[in-house]
Amino acid sequence: MPLLVMKFGGTSVADLARIQNAAQKVKREVERGYDVIVIVSAMSGKTNELVGWVEQTSPLFDAREYDAVVSSGENVTAGLMALTLQEMDVPARSWQGWQVPIQTTSAHSAARFLSIPRENIDAKFAEGFKVAVVAGFQGVSPEGRITTLGRGGSDTTAVAFAAAFSAERCDIYTDVDGVYTTDPRITAKARKLDKIAYEEMLELASLGAKVLQTRSVELAMRYNVRLRVLSSFEDTDETSGTLVCDEDDIMESKVVSGVAYSRDEAKMTLVTVEDRPGVAAAIFGPLAEAGVNVDMIVQNISEKDLGGRTVNVTDMTFSCPVNQVARARKALEDAKAAGAIMYDDLVSDTDVAKVSVVGIGMRSHAGVAATMFKALAADGVNIKVIATSEIKISVLIDRKYMELAVQALHDAFALETAN
Ligand code: ASP
Ligand code: MG
Repeated sequence: MPLLVMKFGGTSVADLARIQNAAQKVKREVERGYDVIVIVSAMSGKTNELVGWVEQTSPLFDAREYDAVVSSGENVTAGLMALTLQEMDVPARSWQGWQVPIQTTSAHSAARFLSIPRENIDAKFAEGFKVAVVAGFQGVSPEGRITTLGRGGSDTTAVAFAAAFSAERCDIYTDVDGVYTTDPRITAKARKLDKIAYEEMLELASLGAKVLQTRSVELAMRYNVRLRVLSSFEDTDETSGTLVCDEDDIMESKVVSGVAYSRDEAKMTLVTVEDRPGVAAAIFGPLAEAGVNVDMIVQNISEKDLGGRTVNVTDMTFSCPVNQVARARKALEDAKAAGAIMYDDLVSDTDVAKVSVVGIGMRSHAGVAATMFKALAADGVNIKVIATSEIKISVLIDRKYMELAVQALHDAFALETAN
């Protein structure tokens, strides 16, 4: 039997009527001849509520009990989905993670898959079940405790099942009809993409386009899972949505495929650091130990006159998530107090945003950076930090210009048209 994985996110199972609607889509695939593994999220808002309850009960909670509580939202929707399918005469049953069993590491609230054995579910398909409804976001540790995969983890469950069961495709049903060139709330010119390469999606996902959990895209790329994002609120067919696939499956692609942004950035600068070997290690070592996710880094070397003696100094600037500024500051101040680094001042700017253009076409096209910088200059947007990779250019700018910058770049790369 050909097999499909269908994943329904929180808004797609938000109430009983929506579960009905999702179940109809599952039934249609069964009628087309597929065995289906359905992965469900918790009803929208449920996981946040459960997290809140844990935090209220125990501020320094036991991570194992956090997972026991927070994973439960998916158990409810898995059971309800199986019941709904049964009412439609589709032979279905629910599976909690431990029943499969979905084996993960014991890193609670950030667990990773170890293995997804097929035997139990395959045996049920062989008995005549057409649908296995699996609770997303959860698994079981080697110690036998319930684990969760990190917020948004049901996407990753879906891709992992598609890989383990060699599914024909992994369909991610959500509240948008696909992946767009940029956020349609920022510009009405945003266009839905028919296809996007894994690597581009990976950059967009990690740059703040919230359609898919980044880890799910990594897994899809590693196991070559054809991943499709589509709306659960529309009538859909084989051609709907956006297919995330290998770049070889994309005939025509533009140099830039999308513009991403992230509002939650901060910029920190260590002023007048002595420029000598080992300084970067002395700064970024303690930051890493403190769990600060440093993203962009720049250093500006200059000379300073120290009473007749000229020494080389540098200003070291980096960006990190805005909610990690306090932690970064503490790590650097502690390192200074311990004599590990010396600097004159530590300045943080929390009113910045990151805007990035992404596209695999950049590998073979020159001039993308020039086009980007010209477009920003034309709108008077000052660039504070620049970072590039093979298929991405990111700039840090004042947050108040973020929307303007996204619009300007979307226009500059003519993203509203397909060719
Ligand atoms: N329910 C979990 C969350 O809200 C997992 C998911 O929906 O993907 O993060
Ligand atoms: Mg999600």
